Amino acid sequence: MVDLSRMSKDELTRQVRQHLGSLKSAGVDWLPKGSIQTVPVEWELKPDVASAKPQALDEPQAVARGQLPVAGEDERKKGSFASPLPLAAGNSLFSDVSGPEPVTEAKPATPALTLEQRRQQLKVLTETVCQCARCPELASTRTQTVFGVGQVGAELCFIGEAPGADEDAQGEPFVGAAGQLLNSIIAACKMKREEVYICNIIKCRPPGNRTPLPHEAANCREFLERQLELIQPKFICALGSTAARYLLNTTQGIGQLRGRFHNYRGIPVMCTYHPAYLLPHRSPGSKKEVWQDMKMLMAKMGRPVA
Ligand code: URA
Repeated sequence: MVDLSRMSKDELTRQVRQHLGSLKSAGVDWLPKGSIQTVPVEWELKPDVASAKPQALDEPQAVARGQLPVAGEDERKKGSFASPLPLAAGNSLFSDVSGPEPVTEAKPATPALTLEQRRQQLKVLTETVCQCARCPELASTRTQTVFGVGQVGAELCFIGEAPGADEDAQGEPFVGAAGQLLNSIIAACKMKREEVYICNIIKCRPPGNRTPLPHEAANCREFLERQLELIQPKFICALGSTAARYLLNTTQGIGQLRGRFHNYRGIPVMCTYHPAYLLPHRSPGSKKEVWQDMKMLMAKMGRPVA
């Protein structure tokens, strides 16, 4: 648990702004009245953010009080975090996977939860991620966490590597140049961005847009697994080698992984080149391979595109 008493006023202000920004970006647009947490006088917020003082959310209240998993050693040692609603017994999404497996039919991972409960739990998870400090470097340099965008129950989920500068500023994945290309790919597949779910392997921008480190991906893994468990996509598209490697726990490069289906806990996964790789200064010629991959994926989804 973060020790607030050691935090400077500026840092606290930064974190409150970040926290509220992340919540807003993740679709949490109201904060029910709750007991305002008492903080020592020296942490009082500057007038301009005083109105944004974080009141506890309904279920997230528990997170704020430390009853739900915040990214702490204890929770990580325990191997999982508490969840306000019961998970279905024998939940397959949390079992370990060690690389590509034969594709099997996707099964609903949490049949015990209604759509509304899954939405609610996704909000709780968003709140948990907002407060995450498992990776001290990322937590201290991010503007906000970038959780994901889209609806619970989206059929297709795109998974990228990590937020970049634009995503860090806006709190939404794939909104920069690579995001524009991803939008074009989605449109070419005759889908709308609002129809799919989009997230990243890690939820914070690595400084200088460096590749996420293994321990950062490991720290975020639990969040990604839970996120996918709640969204329950029927298909996944991993964008780029970092996303593919971390998702599938493989060391193979994207050149070897693309063009065929893999398996993430019962969900068919297509891997393809990252949209940033297709930008004019990199390898725009690889668009044709991406299009082949997308056509395979759309055919498997029963929505063939020419
Ligand atoms: N690249 C990614 O992998 N993810 C984003 O959200 C943006 C760019």
